[in-house]
Amino acid sequence: MNSEPILFKGAKVFDPLCLRFRNLDFVVQSQKIVETGTLSHAGYSTVNLKGYWVLPGFVDSHCHILGVGQKEDVCNLEKFDDIHKMFEHIKHSLRSLSSPYVFRGWDETKLGIVPSRDLIRKFLGDVEILLIRRCGHVAVISEALERKHGLHTKNGMVSEDQLSDLLQKIPHSLESLEIYLKKGCERALKYGVTTIHSDDLHRTNVVKLITILRAQRKLRIQEELALKTPEDVYKLRKLFGFYSPHLTIPGIKIYLDGSLGGRTAYLEEEYSDKPGSRGVLNHTCENLERFLNVCAANGLTLSIHVIGDGALNAVLKTIYRAHRIPFIKLIHLQITKPEHIIKLKKLRINITVQPGFWKSDREMARSRIGDRMKYAYKFRDMYLKMLKVGFSSDAPVETIDPRYGIEAAMELGFEWEEAVALYTWGSAQLSSIPVFRNAGRIAKGYYADFLIYDSDPRKMSIPASVFVGGREVYPGR
Ligand SMILES: [Zn+2]
Repeated sequence: MNSEPILFKGAKVFDPLCLRFRNLDFVVQSQKIVETGTLSHAGYSTVNLKGYWVLPGFVDSHCHILGVGQKEDVCNLEKFDDIHKMFEHIKHSLRSLSSPYVFRGWDETKLGIVPSRDLIRKFLGDVEILLIRRCGHVAVISEALERKHGLHTKNGMVSEDQLSDLLQKIPHSLESLEIYLKKGCERALKYGVTTIHSDDLHRTNVVKLITILRAQRKLRIQEELALKTPEDVYKLRKLFGFYSPHLTIPGIKIYLDGSLGGRTAYLEEEYSDKPGSRGVLNHTCENLERFLNVCAANGLTLSIHVIGDGALNAVLKTIYRAHRIPFIKLIHLQITKPEHIIKLKKLRINITVQPGFWKSDREMARSRIGDRMKYAYKFRDMYLKMLKVGFSSDAPVETIDPRYGIEAAMELGFEWEEAVALYTWGSAQLSSIPVFRNAGRIAKGYYADFLIYDSDPRKMSIPASVFVGGREVYPGR
C-alpha cells in the first residue's frame, strides 16, 4: 500500500508528549510516518496543509464496536424518557423483527420507572422479549421467554450472569453482525477514532466474530475476547495473536463486577441506597488467580472490568499473591481511594477510564455511594500521580465521539491538551502489542493515523479528513 512517499507539509501538528502544537512536516510511506521536521523534498507528491491543524488519530482503549453499530438499530431504547412512548415504539417495531426480541438501552432514571414484567404483559401481551438496561448488565424478561429458557427470576429481573448466558442463546446473524461492524467503524472514523480496543464476544461465537473482524480494513482493532472461565482460554488458545495491522487479538476480557447503575458493582461497603447490599463479585480471588496464571503462561493480555472499590481490592490482593502476572489492563476503576492509587502505580498497571461517565452518571453514582463520591472519578489524580492511564468511551454506553469524554475530562480539571494526550498516545500505550503502541502520535516509526482539521480542534470541531495508515478513510474518496 502507498509505497510512494507523500509529504504532508505546513500543518500545525499536536504532539501528545509535549502537549502542544508546532509546525511540522511529515512524510508517510507504507502505512508509517518515516520522517518529520521542516522538510522540502522536491519530487515527492506533496499535500499542502498550510492553515490546517493535525491531531494524531484517537485511540479508544475500551469500547464495544458492534454495539456502536447496533445502537443505530430500531432496538435501541435510549432516547425514551416516557415509558408509554417506549412501549409504543417497541410494539410498533415488533412487526419488522422476528421473535425472540431483544431491545436495549432503557434507563429508569430517565423513564422514572423500571420497566417490569407486568408492564411488558400489559403493553405487549404474551411475547418473547428481553429488555436490557442501558448499562448492559441487567435486564427484564417476559414470562414467555423465561419459560422457554427455563430461567428463574424474581419478577423478571435478569441478573448479570443469567443475562450473558441468555444472550448467547439468542445470537445475532452473520449479516447483522456485518452491518453493525460497518456502521460502528463509520461512526468511530467520523469522529476521528482510528484505533480501538474492543470487546464484542456477545451474542455471537468466536469464529463469526473473527470472520467479520478480519474483513475490516479501515480501523485498527484490538479485540479482547470476553470469556467466562480460564478453561475457555485453553480452548481458544490458537486464535490469539496478531492478524494484520487492522486486527490483533492479544487476550481476553473478564467482568469482575457489574455496574453502579444496576447496583451490581462490588463495593467495599454497602450501597447508600440499598442497605445490606454490596453488589456482586463475579469471580472469586482463586478464579481470578487462575485467569492471571493462564494468561501469563500463554503470553496473553488480561483486561478486567472493575468498577467498585471492593472489586479493585480483590484484583490487587490477587495480583500481590499471584506467582505470574500477565499484561493487565483494568477497565473503569470508578472508585479509587488514595491507597489504591499508590498500589496501582507501584504495580505499573495499565488503566483505561471513561471521563464521559462523569457527565452522564454522576447523579446516579451519588445516590448509590453517597460520601464515597470523594473517591469517585479520580482520573486527574491518576494522571498527576503518573499512573499508566488512558481514556476511552465504553461506547455504546456513551457516544464514541471523543469530544464528549474530552469535555468531561475538562470539567474534571484536565487541560484540553492533557485530555487529548490521554485519548491518543496515552491510550495506545495500554496495548501489549508493540506495533499497536506505535499509534497516537505523529512521529517517525508511528502508524500514519492522523486527523486533519480545517478549524482549530481546541474549539471542539470534528475532523475534515481522517487517515489510517496514510490512506484517507473518512470521508473517503
Ligand atoms: Zn464496556
